[in-house]
Amino acid sequence: MQSTLTFYGGAGSVTGSNFMLDTGGAKFLIDCGFEQGVHEEDNYKPFAYDVKAVSHLFISHAHLDHVGRIPFLVKSGFTGKIVSTHATRSLAEFIMRDALSLMIRAVGHGGREPLYAEQDIDHALKLWEERGLHEPLELPDGMTHEFYDAGHILGSAMSRFSRADKSLVVTGDLGGGNSPLLPLTEALPNPDYLVIESVYGDRVRQDDSHRREDLENVIEATVLRGGTLLIPAFSTERTQDLVFEIRSLMTGKMIPSVPVFLDSPLAEKITAAFEDHPEYFSREIQDRVAKGEKIFSFPEMKFARDQEESRLIQSVEGPKIILAGSGMSNGGRVLSHERYVLPDPASTLLIVGYQAAGTIGRRLLEGEKELHVGKEVIPVRAHVETLYGYSAHRDGAGLMELVEACAGTLTQVFVVEGEPAAAGFLTQRIRDYLAVKATAPGQGDSATIEL
Ligand SMILES: [Zn+2]
Repeated sequence: MQSTLTFYGGAGSVTGSNFMLDTGGAKFLIDCGFEQGVHEEDNYKPFAYDVKAVSHLFISHAHLDHVGRIPFLVKSGFTGKIVSTHATRSLAEFIMRDALSLMIRAVGHGGREPLYAEQDIDHALKLWEERGLHEPLELPDGMTHEFYDAGHILGSAMSRFSRADKSLVVTGDLGGGNSPLLPLTEALPNPDYLVIESVYGDRVRQDDSHRREDLENVIEATVLRGGTLLIPAFSTERTQDLVFEIRSLMTGKMIPSVPVFLDSPLAEKITAAFEDHPEYFSREIQDRVAKGEKIFSFPEMKFARDQEESRLIQSVEGPKIILAGSGMSNGGRVLSHERYVLPDPASTLLIVGYQAAGTIGRRLLEGEKELHVGKEVIPVRAHVETLYGYSAHRDGAGLMELVEACAGTLTQVFVVEGEPAAAGFLTQRIRDYLAVKATAPGQGDSATIEL
């Protein structure tokens, strides 16, 4: 049997994942994500295929660059089934609604009309079917689908498609193996074909075994100076990982008891969704939750529900910890806190994630001493520290390990979701070290596979 794989998005770039598996008698999509950054305008382009001919859309995980265009697909006439794990569906609903509210707000600032409306999200959710890990699903044209744990964010899953004795695995994003909450990425089930992400394909992450100790040190030093620790954090996974770690340190009396504020309505909703789906946590965390432990709650923890509560945080005297979005300080509530925190030499801004070029987070990371935001000038006297041990992605060595473990069965590997340098580097390494055929497809490229 033969099938065709086409890479409509997320090929030659990190964001906008959108792949199609055409078996001859049926068409399946994997992910339908937003293009972020320089190609954002492309989100408004019509899909390059007949969306009505697609029977199923499989979702790897709830990050915007994997789910952001789903309502637009539905608006464009898609009436098939959307399939994901339970946690992914819960998280994706918040992510899609939040994206829409940002688009609506942008219209007021001269932005384009939103890509879709609330009713398109509602319609998408009606087409949605939840599926647990390792629950096979029979598809048209003799294909079977099964989810495997990707360990990237809560509910993240690789997709395995099989027909007769051949199979294809599409990884989606793969976890770095360092989340305090999630299980490790599952071993690849010996596929013949593999579509693998490569966000950090050309990088080796530093040793992150001291990350909790590093976090402890940053908190202690800031509290000792009487300052505020401000952490710009992404709403999904990073925030929950950090809240869990701070709780562990505080309840274990490893750090002083100070107020901790989560100032992000989206992160609060996502945290609640995490609590609703303990089945996707690691075994250890599942056991603790089953025994009644509330892994995100502790007496010092407070949520800022509205603008007023957000504003009041700055009037709380003495040392405190604030987690707020956005993760790259590009707008959101974190900016209003930065106005207070950055000029204060006793305070610390802690950067915990990737900061894209041009963002305020990147400028702070590069040591800017004066921040220009619009007409405003904010002096930077606070300590600016970084902590990368909580990255949600596998590095190049980790990706190679996964591929190597199934090199014996692989016919071909397609390297996607990376900048050209990262994807190219990983592709070359797979060829050179494992002697497996590997390519880094570009956007719109197709390949025929024996499946
Ligand atoms: Zn992701």
